[in-house]
Amino acid sequence: MDIQLLRQELNKLLHEKLEPVVESSDLNSEFPMEAYRAVAQAGFGGIFLPEEYGGGESLEGLMVVMEEMSKFSPGFALSTMASFQLFGYNIARLGTAAQKEKYLKGLTGEAKIGCWGLTEPDVGSDAIHIKTTAKKEGNDYILNGSKTFITNAPIADYFIIIANSGGSGFNSGSARQAGSAFVLEKGMKGLSVSKPFKKHGHRCSPTGQIFLDQVKVTKDHLLGSEGSAFADMKHSLELERFLIGPMVAGMLETLIEKCVSYAYNRQQFGQPILFFQLIQEKIARMRMHLEMIRAATDQGVALIKEGKPATNLATALKLYGGKAAVEMGSEAMQIHGGNGYMHEYRVEMFMRDAKLLEIGGGTNEMMLQILAKNTIKEVGKKYGVT
Ligand SMILES: Cc1cc2nc3c(=O)[nH]c(=O)nc-3n(C[C@H](O)[C@H](O)[C@H](O)COP(=O)(O)OP(=O)(O)OC[C@H]3O[C@@H](n4cnc5c(N)ncnc54)[C@H](O)[C@@H]3O)c2cc1C
Repeated sequence: MDIQLLRQELNKLLHEKLEPVVESSDLNSEFPMEAYRAVAQAGFGGIFLPEEYGGGESLEGLMVVMEEMSKFSPGFALSTMASFQLFGYNIARLGTAAQKEKYLKGLTGEAKIGCWGLTEPDVGSDAIHIKTTAKKEGNDYILNGSKTFITNAPIADYFIIIANSGGSGFNSGSARQAGSAFVLEKGMKGLSVSKPFKKHGHRCSPTGQIFLDQVKVTKDHLLGSEGSAFADMKHSLELERFLIGPMVAGMLETLIEKCVSYAYNRQQFGQPILFFQLIQEKIARMRMHLEMIRAATDQGVALIKEGKPATNLATALKLYGGKAAVEMGSEAMQIHGGNGYMHEYRVEMFMRDAKLLEIGGGTNEMMLQILAKNTIKEVGKKYGVT
């Protein structure tokens, strides 16, 4: 695959279909459906899905697609990622032939929208203690419970729901081994969704609740094997964390461009503010983060392709990228002064969008905990730490 050509073609499409609606979809919290359909049907959304189901099987391509979309709208990138990666990639990895045929072709051919639901009103970071249940009754499962903060839930056609299928004695035995994933579809009896939440950022990406009231499905709707959902999700969560890399890289590229051009055109004290060293320092730090994030993302791609352990790098990149986006989003607004505080310059949108990266997909505190645990385990061995 010619990555450069992919980048150019996607950029052109996004300029045509997404750019004109970025501001209105952010201000009105509306999902840019036409742009999503264009991106899905031109093959960009499914760039990492298997070729036989309309995908492009390219990890490098996925990183480029994520970066390009994030240059225009991180919210659009988030929703597209939830559909094709959180939903689609899990189907590609774990689904039966029939599930792949139906759902992957739905995503790539018909621009259907997928979502992935783990988080619940009472269960966030402590994810393995989910309360949504899937009780087995003969050949069927009956799902009850609710999910919240789910990207795309209000507009989704397809749902992956993680539920506790621990049998009659829920939460008996290991909670980690009681999680099972189920694929559900819009219109199923007992399945409903909320309206989109009103949010701080990523406003064009609809986030909502899912309600499950006696949803009855056959075992054909089980994704992967019963009890394996938490073990199975490790890999896709790792990929999601790596995707923060290109997302922040895209955001920084746009912010750098906006800041350099604004600072050159804005005169104070008889000269462009770009010539003040305090302004240049902010631009230099944006570039520093961009270089570090690009390098870590490339390293991540190499590790994934070689099948080598990548947990610590993915975790570090998620943490570093989120912090860099928040800090640099704020600095970009600072360079724009009062204008930065106004919608029309669109730097404040990137600043609002940045904060989610410190919360969604595992909070900063959870990333720190993983890094501390792994490091102490690794290094502590030498000192008899148990
Ligand atoms: C816009 C948006 C989109 C999302 N999309 C999805 C989605 O598509 N699918 C999905 O399943 N989820 C989704 N989420 C949920 C997201 O993954 C959770 O919000 C996140 O994991 C944190 O969970 P929580 O909000 O319940 O916070 P909590 O877990 O309640 O945490 C609150 C605070 O306490 C801290 N904390 C918790 N435990 C510890 C500890 N042991 N030590 C130190 N500090 C701790 C946290 O770091 C945080 O600062 C989304 C969230 C948002 C906001």
